[in-house]
Amino acid sequence: MLFVFIIVGIIPLYLFSYVLLNNYKEKAVGDRFNQMQNQIIMLSNLMLPTGYLTLADVPEIDAEINRVAEFYQGRIVVVNNNLNIVEDTYGLYDENKYLVSKEVIQCFSGNSSKVHDTENNYLILTQPIIHTTEEQKVVVGAIVMNSSTKDIQSTLVSMEQRASIFILAITMFIVIFAIYFSSKLTKPLTKVVSSIDHLTEGYLDEEVSIKGYYEIEKISDSFNKMISRMQKIENTRQEFVSNVSHELKTPITSIKVLAESLLMQEDVPVEVYREFLIDINKEIERENEIINDLLSLVKLNKTAGDMNISSININELLEQILKRLRPLAKKQSIEMVYESFRPVIAEVDEVKLSLAMTNLIENAIKYNVPDGWVRVSLNADHKYFYIKVSDSGIGIPEDVQDLIFERFYRVDKARSRESGGTGLGLAITKNVIQMHRGAIKVYSVEGEGTTFNVRIPLNYIAQS
Ligand code: ADP
Repeated sequence: MLFVFIIVGIIPLYLFSYVLLNNYKEKAVGDRFNQMQNQIIMLSNLMLPTGYLTLADVPEIDAEINRVAEFYQGRIVVVNNNLNIVEDTYGLYDENKYLVSKEVIQCFSGNSSKVHDTENNYLILTQPIIHTTEEQKVVVGAIVMNSSTKDIQSTLVSMEQRASIFILAITMFIVIFAIYFSSKLTKPLTKVVSSIDHLTEGYLDEEVSIKGYYEIEKISDSFNKMISRMQKIENTRQEFVSNVSHELKTPITSIKVLAESLLMQEDVPVEVYREFLIDINKEIERENEIINDLLSLVKLNKTAGDMNISSININELLEQILKRLRPLAKKQSIEMVYESFRPVIAEVDEVKLSLAMTNLIENAIKYNVPDGWVRVSLNADHKYFYIKVSDSGIGIPEDVQDLIFERFYRVDKARSRESGGTGLGLAITKNVIQMHRGAIKVYSVEGEGTTFNVRIPLNYIAQS
């Protein structure tokens, strides 16, 4: 973050000052060349009418040339059309000398030339002296004018110095700002990270309260939500484990008590042995039931993504379940009614759905009254199919209707136990329905009866 701030803040500043200084330099050099050109034209105009170029001695012109050369801290050399040097402000050449250079020769074709000697800080302008008559223009000589660029250079240096100080100040400001801001931005993140580390170590009871900008506060909120969900999962897990051990221990304790009381007595009659063994056998069966239910629940949870989906005729599936359960209903003189409003074919896991529906219908029989009834109905629309299981049984008190889907929860433990219940049936049912992306609802009035409504999509929606 610090790096980005510096790049975004400082690089454009450097580029900007570089372009600005370069522009100034180009413009100053261009202006200087223009001024030199004007001076040469002015000097040419002075020379032309006087015959100065034909080596006539005109001191005023010499003085003017020297003044101009001095002003530009340079040198002016005047050459006539014989390439004979007429004037050299440095006095190095006299009138017997000739100046033959590429630039001077070019002048006689009417071309001037500009050279910028950056090494020695000089501008050299070579320009023809043109005599214009009515008929024609004739090049009668050339002027080579040097001008020092030291003044431009020194302005540039002082500008560069000022720009550097300015850039340095801005850079320092940006760095300080970047350090402050990036630490302010990352501080809450560091706190989130340390909270996550703390959580990983197993401290689920801690909430994070991070004050920062909006997004960070959102992260903190989501984080807290996640923690509370994990806490809930951890609590149910612990509760489940303690419930499981309790449920598994109960039959074993009974078996142990029965066996011990037999062992402690001597000469126990065979009938008593039989009686006790029957009880022991019942407890073993119960243990077996609990283990089987637990296994199906664990299997469901473990293979959540492993659904064996196929198109199933739901009418047939329900009829088969009812057929299997009829003997149980008959034992308690309970009438079983099946109503189907339309044929339903749906994509479901047959084994799992069959298990869920069996639990519901079995409960409707188990928690019924003698001579009662159980009604199962099947309906569908374009999206879902609906199974309704109603009974005329004992009902479920309103305040515990939410709890019956919890594992091991039973309204009346003794009654559930008597009918071979483990408290896991509805948990399994709800799990299966959720795996089909469906929903289950219970309506019940104590002493009147209970209705379970199940809704499942006709087409299986894979878990994402
Ligand atoms: P169980 O093995 O005890 O039947 P379930 O998970 O199937 O366990 O059901 C949980 C509890 O909900 C039952 O013990 C019972 O008290 C209550 N219950 C379930 N279905 C019915 C019903 N149709 N009528 C009355 N009570 C019911």
